[in-house]
Amino acid sequence: MVPHHCPAPPCAHRLTRNPGAGCGRMNIAAVFNALLVSILAAVLWKHVRLREHASTLEEELALSRQAQAFPQATVDYQAALQTLLEEGTRMVCTGRTHTDRVCRFRELCYSVEAEEFIFFHSNASLMLPNLGPRRFQPALLDLSSVEDHNTQYFNFVELPTSALRSLPAPLFMPEVVLIANRFNPDNLMHIFHDDLLPMFYTMQQFPDLDQEARLVFMEGWGPGLHFDLYQLLSHKVPLVREQLKSLGSLLCFSQAYVGLSKVTTWYQYGFVQPQGPKANILVSGDEIRRFTRFFTERLNASGPGGRGPAGEEYIVVFSRTLNRLILNEAELLLALAQEFQMKTVTVSLEDHAFSDVVRLVSNASMLVSMHGAQLVTALFLPRGAVVVELFPYAVNPDHYTPYKTLANLPNMDLRYVAWQNTKQENTVTYPDRPWDQGGIAHLDRAEQERILQSREVPRHLCCRNPEWLFRIYQDTKVDVPSLLRAIRGVVRANLGLGGQKRANGLYPSKVRGAKCQASVQGAAEARLSVSWQIPWNLRFLKVREVKYEVWIQEQGENAYTPYILTLQNHTFAENIKPFTTYLVWIRCIFGKSLLGPFADVLVCST
Ligand code: UDP
Repeated sequence: MVPHHCPAPPCAHRLTRNPGAGCGRMNIAAVFNALLVSILAAVLWKHVRLREHASTLEEELALSRQAQAFPQATVDYQAALQTLLEEGTRMVCTGRTHTDRVCRFRELCYSVEAEEFIFFHSNASLMLPNLGPRRFQPALLDLSSVEDHNTQYFNFVELPTSALRSLPAPLFMPEVVLIANRFNPDNLMHIFHDDLLPMFYTMQQFPDLDQEARLVFMEGWGPGLHFDLYQLLSHKVPLVREQLKSLGSLLCFSQAYVGLSKVTTWYQYGFVQPQGPKANILVSGDEIRRFTRFFTERLNASGPGGRGPAGEEYIVVFSRTLNRLILNEAELLLALAQEFQMKTVTVSLEDHAFSDVVRLVSNASMLVSMHGAQLVTALFLPRGAVVVELFPYAVNPDHYTPYKTLANLPNMDLRYVAWQNTKQENTVTYPDRPWDQGGIAHLDRAEQERILQSREVPRHLCCRNPEWLFRIYQDTKVDVPSLLRAIRGVVRANLGLGGQKRANGLYPSKVRGAKCQASVQGAAEARLSVSWQIPWNLRFLKVREVKYEVWIQEQGENAYTPYILTLQNHTFAENIKPFTTYLVWIRCIFGKSLLGPFADVLVCST
């Protein structure tokens, strides 16, 4: 198969740089341009960079201490070597294709020199699935949670155990490790969606990936600005690929899980088709909240947020301070406070510790923000809260929906509002910035002109579309009346979290004891009397509305007639013919939409 993806992990909005480089924070000159208020920007920038530098140094120090402290002393070296020589590598995987595969290995080795994983063959080694050459078509598995991205594939090199004689002495890593790629560890949306949630749920899937397991990141980036978030997943500090070098030249992981579960991801970034929700979303708000509860606790961010002693409700405006600015933030804050009679506060990733952001967001009634990665913090909103996403001029909200999709996950119980700037006079463009911050000066004149005239960015693939970058990095003066109208359109009743009704969301089981009796009334008339008992689980639940759906199908016909009934028996006379065989299907429905399974079909002959 011909590789069809970009050569490096991308940002949601633009192709990223070399591994290890920062996202959106590297070019100081550009940031000066971007902010115009250059002195303020310089101070801010310095602050961010210093923080980044300090935290990276600290992390590296901690990591090298960690690496040195690798518990070789606890390994019976001779026994470990003997096991490797005799048994070789053993691998058993889940998943039918490379995109849904996670593999468990015993004695998986890694050559630092070759930068390859090694599968050692012995008489006792095990490789399941044994794919033969299909292991390279295109790979054994995806190392990140982003589906089928050709920079994220995992494979191993095969060697006989006899080769160990000519290789450096292995260093045995006795802990259980989870080996994976972070997709774009500079961008908060990617961090949560592609890495933290999938890692958390991969760890839930395999019991030995407990809090003593260690994460090993192989994508090749440095620890990154948000490394502290990854550290919350287990008690051990994760290792990044670079660090493996300092451990030894041949590393052998006694127990390694490789790959990430994709079960929690809800968005595809547009590598093969324009970005949008994943086709088959398998996660609900319940699992999201299970993760955020764990995470909030680890972050030490449980608490009253900005609420006063009386549990006062409030609105959070999430601001970006480097680019994609809201130009009239003060006016916006005042208007929201007045309209909803609530305290309104601002946060930004630059000015607040992430734990404070989470504490604030997790008690907020409304989160208002420009489109951008910071909106992934909507994960932490309480049920019933409102997410308001602002889009710059010419950016169609329907085409970029990672946060809308998140807010609308089943049981997420968030209300979502999109607002777009439709007034060109309220936008500020930056044609002279570098291309990756939306500049278009490098394009030919005609193309620049076309982009400047265009009123909507046409749908496009990830990640370098200059028109998209140009428009998404505009600053916006928010037209407050139109924004309030948009919010009012969704928040009809009072804003506020109190009194949220929660459907229990549990599905009925099968109806039981279904029977049918047929009778013939005359040459052209017959009846079917059908009865059943309530589903077994109903007596344990408080369900206000219980209905039954009965389908009657003449044997041999494709069509059937459906009926919705409230009682547990019914006699059907309409369209029932004598001397005919009918199939009767019955299922229970809770509320409006919780459809249970059909009971075993009844066969009734009149
Ligand atoms: N970012 C930020 N403040 C800014 C601009 C960006 O905190 O003023 C963060 C943003 O939340 C994300 C990262 O920097 O985590 C990269 O931002 P970028 O604009 O590249 O991506 P986007 O937010 O559009 O996904």
